[in-house]
Amino acid sequence: MRPEAPPEIYVCPPCVDGWGVDALDTRLLTLEHVPAGKAHGKELVLTCKPCNNTDGSRLDKPAVRQHKMMRFLARHPNVKIRADLLGADGFVHRGEAWWTADGHLHHSGIPQQNGHHPRGVDDYADAMNSGEIRIALHFDVGDERLAAIASLRAAYLAAFAVWGYTYILRPELDSVREMIRTPDDGRPVAVSRYDNGTGTGTIFDLIGTRQIGFVVDGPDWAVGNVLVNIDHYGIFLPGFGESPAKLAAHLSNARPAGAMRMRQWEWPTQPRYEIDWWGA
Ligand SMILES: [Zn+2]
Repeated sequence: MRPEAPPEIYVCPPCVDGWGVDALDTRLLTLEHVPAGKAHGKELVLTCKPCNNTDGSRLDKPAVRQHKMMRFLARHPNVKIRADLLGADGFVHRGEAWWTADGHLHHSGIPQQNGHHPRGVDDYADAMNSGEIRIALHFDVGDERLAAIASLRAAYLAAFAVWGYTYILRPELDSVREMIRTPDDGRPVAVSRYDNGTGTGTIFDLIGTRQIGFVVDGPDWAVGNVLVNIDHYGIFLPGFGESPAKLAAHLSNARPAGAMRMRQWEWPTQPRYEIDWWGA
């Protein structure tokens, strides 16, 4: 007698809960952007609604703020930041600022935020013409710890998109899942920031970076482990070799990885792992 075909199940990578095919129809499983869509991520991995909507969006917000601030500071064109024009005599005109493609900083007032005051327009013109203006930029930095955990989550999902369940179901990844699912418990986040660039460029050159691979040259705790670079974040994940133990010993004081060399995989651009035959 032929055994009955096993049920088609999809295991959601962050929570490792199993979902049936019907979860696609009921939208309990949807494609998630990695990293967040507003941080220029692509739809890459199926995740369940609790993971994507609840955990995901909570972490996405601070990550998107960081990404936006860094793009503005890197002078990417048309990234708008709240900016007030400060004239002489205490005049403040609310508005926003952005860089143009040819490298000029533009400022524009927002009428709704300036009370539609006819005098405001004159003051604005006076201030602009006076040559003595200052612009106060308002960066909404958000929660940096949550932004770092968001990058850890994106690195984990990207690693899943590249190496699948063979990789993420290794026991060394349990602690990563725990961190991205319970981000509030105050543990140190094992994510480095390349605050001074990587030695070959400045931090601003890193905005838009998407890299995944294994460290092949560097300190021994890092060699063999996975390194994911997303913007100015470097995220270490356990590798397939014996170095995860050394990595774990260093995770509490993760450091920038400027001197490391990695063997890169192609950054994933489309979903690869969908409904599987469980146990087949
Ligand atoms: Zn889930």
